[in-house]
Amino acid sequence: MDLIRLKRVSKYYYNKSSISSGFEKVNLNLNIGEFVVLTGESGSGKSTLLNVISGLDSYEDGEMYINGEETSHYSEEDLEQYRRKYIGNIFQNFNLVNSYTVFQNVELVLLLNGYKKKEVRQKVLDVINMVGLTKYKNTKASKLSGGQKQRVAIARALVKETPIIVADEPTGNLDVKSAKGIMKLLSEISKERLVVIVTHNYEQVEEYATRKITMSDGKIIEDKVLKETKKDQIKAIEYKNITFMNKLLLGLRNTFNIKTKFILLTLVYFFLTLLVFSSYSSIRKMDFDSSNDGTNSYFTNASADRIVINKNDKSQFTDEDYNKINNLSNIKSISKDDLFSDISVNLSSDYLGMSGAVSSIPSDLKISKGRLPENDDEIVLKVNSSNYIVEDEDIFKYSFTMEDYDGNLIKRNLKVVGFVYDDKLQYYDYGIYASDSVLDIARKNNNIKYSSVSLTVNNKTYKNTSTTLPFRVLPNQYAEDGKAIITENFNSFCPKEKCYGNNFHIYLKNTYYDASLDVVPTMVTYKNIFNKYTGLPKEEYENYQYTILISEGDYNRLFVTKPYQASVFVKDINDLYNTADELKNLGFNTYIIKDMMLSPMGDFAGVIRILKVISFIISIIVLFFISYFIIRIVLKSRNVYYSIIRILGSTRRVSKHLLMLELFNDITISFSCFIILIVLCNKNIIKVSFIKSLIGYFELKDYILVYLILAVMSILIASRYSRKLFKASALETYREEI
Ligand code: ADP
Ligand code: MG
Repeated sequence: MDLIRLKRVSKYYYNKSSISSGFEKVNLNLNIGEFVVLTGESGSGKSTLLNVISGLDSYEDGEMYINGEETSHYSEEDLEQYRRKYIGNIFQNFNLVNSYTVFQNVELVLLLNGYKKKEVRQKVLDVINMVGLTKYKNTKASKLSGGQKQRVAIARALVKETPIIVADEPTGNLDVKSAKGIMKLLSEISKERLVVIVTHNYEQVEEYATRKITMSDGKIIEDKVLKETKKDQIKAIEYKNITFMNKLLLGLRNTFNIKTKFILLTLVYFFLTLLVFSSYSSIRKMDFDSSNDGTNSYFTNASADRIVINKNDKSQFTDEDYNKINNLSNIKSISKDDLFSDISVNLSSDYLGMSGAVSSIPSDLKISKGRLPENDDEIVLKVNSSNYIVEDEDIFKYSFTMEDYDGNLIKRNLKVVGFVYDDKLQYYDYGIYASDSVLDIARKNNNIKYSSVSLTVNNKTYKNTSTTLPFRVLPNQYAEDGKAIITENFNSFCPKEKCYGNNFHIYLKNTYYDASLDVVPTMVTYKNIFNKYTGLPKEEYENYQYTILISEGDYNRLFVTKPYQASVFVKDINDLYNTADELKNLGFNTYIIKDMMLSPMGDFAGVIRILKVISFIISIIVLFFISYFIIRIVLKSRNVYYSIIRILGSTRRVSKHLLMLELFNDITISFSCFIILIVLCNKNIIKVSFIKSLIGYFELKDYILVYLILAVMSILIASRYSRKLFKASALETYREEI
């Protein structure tokens, strides 16, 4: 039985408009031990015949038998298997992986065929030695001369130990001397194989050939046996599928071995990572905003873990109350006076000013820079860590004045002693931690500003309305406890228009508490004596109409209070309602901010979120295609590689896996670079405010999700790309590329 037998085989090329013939009705038997030279003028069909014999191309008519087996029904996969078992190819253009060393090029065939790296080493070295390239085994293929390249190609064809070696014009690109050497080498290996060489330079091979076949115009016109050979039967070599370890090894090798490609891909993926991150972060930000930061007409700080409390009996908070709350398990922190969580104050120095919410200093406050306050005049600022003021070393020397929103003084000579970083804040947002004594003053200001005062005198109550002048109470150094200094205009409220000695019942009410005070006017002033009895300038008299001047002590009794309201922040939001119940049991009224939140979009929030998610998905798809096209351009140089390994016997699946590994490695490296960048930004070693603004809302699971999205994208890109690559036959791809 012949190793190869062609019976009236024809091959046609189908073009758009015409059919041309490669060769027609060829009959041929080929066997082990033969060194066949195929010759003929250009265009006579030599290459076509060789490609059909070596399974790189299919044929249309007739039948080709391999070891007696019909092949006309062979699929692309069957041909692949045939090539792997039987064929070693040598090309005119060498077909080497230029970025691999000589050793790696030869080793590649065996790795693709499932041999372990360790077990092939010696064999590879032997074959390299046989073609005389031991000296160059670690040289990259791109650095070799033409003759040396062809020797590598021969070594590669030999190492697989296939029964058939085919070579299409192997010396076409070589000088005469190298060509001779190559031919000699091929003749040596033909002893126990079938070697078929195409050449139009018959003289070069004459002395080695055992058979000469001449073609012309698609037909064999001469088939001459020059030397008798004994027709050995052969066993086709066994091959295994590529192992996972080999894929991994080649994947890694391919990731790094072309530096420009590696850098380009890493850059492309880096920007892709950045874009996926920023588009994902807009969803995270929205989730964060809607769960933590909706709006509420009363509470500016509408964070979802906040429960506002006051006492059932509406009394002031005591240390004992705070202790009781702190003993509950789910408490993250208590804002002892939460009034200022919702109202900002201004802080200004000669050099800079800012505004923000003030709160008391939590017992477990973690300072990021500087130190904790040690006395009542020292404050700590909560800022985004990329806020420029963090870098301002002089800020610790400045003297700040705190005023309330309307410009009323709270405290002078405050010193900033530390920063707390919170990257969920915007750059222009500040939080201020101040001592309880500063908060006491702020609270007093607030009580004064937001209380309504009414006056009961002679059994009639006068409320502040738009038609009467608002009553005011103010402290005055000339007034004594329980007594009041009033202006003349009050007399109209009193019997006989004389208020002196009457009882003034002052009633004060605000959101938090109400209080009352009884005073007796012991001085009724008019303009001329105003200064004498109040110490105030005479010109101010008009401004003090309807003002009751009382002693400093009485004034403080009305307005200086401890907090009536506090905010509790919980650790675990899922347990929010249980914690609220526990607080109720302790005697507090609770207002759960989460329930009172008015989402910025109201009922549309859900719809908006869905739209955001859809737009995220669309942007991922768009990014996928953009990066696919960029990566395709970068990978164009890889087409040669993938068509080479395909010719060497790699299946579509294997090529796809190798490409996936290559892209996967790249994306992992880019992602790691990105994570390093984030860590550096977070530690403020480098400053990229854009990145900081992206990651404020990210948790570990978000990083994992983004990574998975990218990994899936790289897999999809790889499989799309390999599908495209495999649409054309290996030969076509290869022809196109060179
Ligand atoms: P040779 O190798 O002897 O120079 P070929 O086998 O390359 O000849 O070509 C044989 C015939 O087939 C020629 O007429 C050529 O034009 C045609 N041919 C070869 N390759 C293709 C192809 N890919 N598409 C169409 N026609 C082809
Ligand atoms: Mg040719």
